[in-house]
Amino acid sequence: MRLTFLELVIPEIAGPPEIPRRHGPASPNLNIIHHFWRLYTRPLRIGYPVLTVSATPILDLEQDPPAPGSGKWTVLIYLVIGSAIGIGADSLGVKLPQLNFLVWIPLLYIAISIHELGHLLAGKMTCMASGGIVVGGFVAMKSGDHWTVRFDPRRIFGSGMAIPLPGKDGFEAGRFAWMVAAGPIASIATTYVCWLAFRRFGDGAGGWIGSSVWASAIGLASLIPMSSGIHKSDAARLWILLTRPDQSRSWMAAVTVQAENARGVRPRDWDAALVEQMLAAPGSGSEQLFPHLMAFLRCLDERNESLASEHLEKALAASGRSGKAVRQTLYLQAAEVNALLKNNAEAARTWLDRALKLRKPESRTCTDSAIAMCEGRYDDALKHIAATRAFLLKRKLDSGLARFSHDWLDERESVCRNAMLAEAHAQPGIRRDG
Ligand SMILES: [Zn+2]
Repeated sequence: MRLTFLELVIPEIAGPPEIPRRHGPASPNLNIIHHFWRLYTRPLRIGYPVLTVSATPILDLEQDPPAPGSGKWTVLIYLVIGSAIGIGADSLGVKLPQLNFLVWIPLLYIAISIHELGHLLAGKMTCMASGGIVVGGFVAMKSGDHWTVRFDPRRIFGSGMAIPLPGKDGFEAGRFAWMVAAGPIASIATTYVCWLAFRRFGDGAGGWIGSSVWASAIGLASLIPMSSGIHKSDAARLWILLTRPDQSRSWMAAVTVQAENARGVRPRDWDAALVEQMLAAPGSGSEQLFPHLMAFLRCLDERNESLASEHLEKALAASGRSGKAVRQTLYLQAAEVNALLKNNAEAARTWLDRALKLRKPESRTCTDSAIAMCEGRYDDALKHIAATRAFLLKRKLDSGLARFSHDWLDERESVCRNAMLAEAHAQPGIRRDG
């Protein structure tokens, strides 16, 4: 809570021209007028202080976002397990396989692929299409009508991920549990086979058989029930699926909403019952992050902007234990919301700075375009919009969110062009192009 001046935004009280809220611009012109209204209305301050509590204190910079948790417990757990294996083998007189780091890295990629393919194969057997696989830096993902394949060097030491695409019907915890369990089952089987090969043939040339035991054994880490940020190990997820029906339902709904997005369904057309179920996630921890981030994007597409801000606020509040990439996404969105919905360029720049401090973003041009629009630099905004569109096309992104983004960029472009025309009219001596 803080002392502020009552801000009366006169045109807001008079009300912006009403636009159709759902299913986009029946009349694109009205949309543009609506955005103009936002861009050109500045708050009029009336000078008596009142106590106000913002509905979105983190977004409005009244509160700091939660401090990121350190990953020291994860590191400690792995160190304890590693030491236990070493000491245990030594005391039992068991010869441990050789580890050749150079051979181990490619073998690790193979072992991760087998683990993730286990998830996808079991998914297939329970009627879930495969939506993608991530193995370290290799990313292959279904995006609408395309498959996008790329190599992300920043993920080179990252783990793997399987992306199943469940349908909207037949929500059963048993099917999801089988799909989750199949990854560790594949890892156990691979480790066992490699161990048998090591016992029979020894370490192999360059220690490749020995290293294959260590590479496949890494997949057994998924049997440690733990969570790091929004990610849960397979064992932790399985435990929830078998014992926590409320939390399971909301997670299954979130996976299914993500599948709708991957199939190219726009946020405003995601199944409303699924979205509601996804948002019913119990607790206040990181389980809340993904549902509220997705709900935020859906509200933007539905043009329910105040509700969008509230969902983003909740996602930010739940972001303490998430990794840098997820926090950066949230911070860039916070910058755009401040620039375009709250008309606060200063706060938008603060969020952009926070996002840039985390790591180099894949693309920042979308946020730059929003800030340029807020600051009335329409020429710059148009350049950033073109760069954002080029990024989406280069990546061949065609998910529901990508389709929404293209429309949103078109709309931003119209606002900029109209604003430039209006400026040119206001200053008859100056001729502007565009
Ligand atoms: Zn797994």
